[in-house]
Amino acid sequence: MRPGGLKPPPRPWFAELWRVAAGALALGVAGFLFDATALALLLGTLAYLAWHLRQIHVTGQWLAHRKHRPLPRARGVWAPIAVSLERLDRRSRKRKRRLRNFIGRFEQAAGAFPDAAVILRIDGGIVWMNAAASLLGLRSQDLNQPIANLIRNPAFVAYLEEERFGTPLEMVSPADDGLHVQVRIVPYGRDRRLLLARDLTRLKRLEQIRQDFVANVSHELRSPLTVIVGWLETLAHDEAAPRRWRHPISQMSQQSGRMCRIVEDLLKLSRIEGTPGGAGRLPVPVAELLESVQGDALGISENSHRIRLEAERGARLLGDCNELYSAFSNLVFNAIQYTPEGGEIRLRWRREEEGARLEVEDTGIGIDEHHLPRLTERFYRVDKARSREVGGTGLGLAIVKHVLMRHDATLEICSRVDAGSTFTCRFPASRVVAGSAEEDAPRGADPAAGPGSGAG
Ligand code: ADP
Repeated sequence: MRPGGLKPPPRPWFAELWRVAAGALALGVAGFLFDATALALLLGTLAYLAWHLRQIHVTGQWLAHRKHRPLPRARGVWAPIAVSLERLDRRSRKRKRRLRNFIGRFEQAAGAFPDAAVILRIDGGIVWMNAAASLLGLRSQDLNQPIANLIRNPAFVAYLEEERFGTPLEMVSPADDGLHVQVRIVPYGRDRRLLLARDLTRLKRLEQIRQDFVANVSHELRSPLTVIVGWLETLAHDEAAPRRWRHPISQMSQQSGRMCRIVEDLLKLSRIEGTPGGAGRLPVPVAELLESVQGDALGISENSHRIRLEAERGARLLGDCNELYSAFSNLVFNAIQYTPEGGEIRLRWRREEEGARLEVEDTGIGIDEHHLPRLTERFYRVDKARSREVGGTGLGLAIVKHVLMRHDATLEICSRVDAGSTFTCRFPASRVVAGSAEEDAPRGADPAAGPGSGAG
């Protein structure tokens, strides 16, 4: 650096004081000789002040344009200041270089990232994006634009506005109708959000292939099974059939009946899974629906259980009546199957602050806690032999879970071995509407009547 390399002169303030004192003395003596001491001292002070002002100006200019100019030579008290300034400047340049390198490396890594990454401001303005953001139809020209103006999918706009960032959103890509993407937003820092989107198309296609396969196999099996069941039934009632055939025929009849139920449940499940979007939104009179379930349940139980129903009339669900019947009846029929004779089953339907809930409580065999997380998996059974004995398919709770998901609802299971179980379906307020109590009052005196075709 100009002020004597990078080293400030030793004790510059002391030297400066000496210089000022010597100058003042010299001017004082000279002034005294010419009988103008005051004038000489004043001129000296003004010159000294002018020199400092010039140094301030030069330093200010350098600070403003230091990128293109070296620091001018500084003397006296200004020398150590200039040294410190230049040191600070060199450090800041180094830090900037390091930051630039880091940002460059980060941008390279983010560019190689196969998923879309977009940095958003709190108001939704796009700050930065990687190349894969094209998955969402975003281009570099879109920087600074609000993302909601570019991705107009209503589900995405609601996701952004309602800030439901706990769960990812699946949607069709705005860039291409054939692409399915999963979008996740992670807030970070004080006012930034990182949007990540990945391509789910292949997974969706595989899922679709699996669903179609199960649906097709079940469909293909249904007709031959119906024929087999029919003939076995005829044989079972055929007096002319040899006696030694009776037992094998009855066994075959039982097993083919089970196969039929499995095929029916598989078809029901694939119908529910295969219907895109949420369930319909027709007002379903739940109290009335539960009366039907209760009637059917009494028939199945052959009156060997007490089945109580407490239903808040006037609380209706916006949903699909057949799907809801299917879910509720599965819960109630399970309660009968896993509750010994003489036990009690209670159905409670009521509104609550967050929406509404249905509880199916039994005094049955209960379920050990470690089974609970897996209970809604297809074909998961606590006791396979018992499930078969009671005619279970292992698909009932999977159907319940899917129906509830389509109604934005959740299933909670509480159970104690040998004490009983409670299955609680919680519906959000957005699915609950008020209906008049009279409308929901029981019609006629036939509680066992089903809710319509295809239910159950
Ligand atoms: P399944 O057709 O075998 O009943 P589900 O999917 O309906 O199949 O139920 C899965 C398993 O959960 C059952 O096999 C049974 O072990 C258990 N389960 C379901 N409901 C009850 C209940 N109310 N009490 C005790 N166990 C139950």
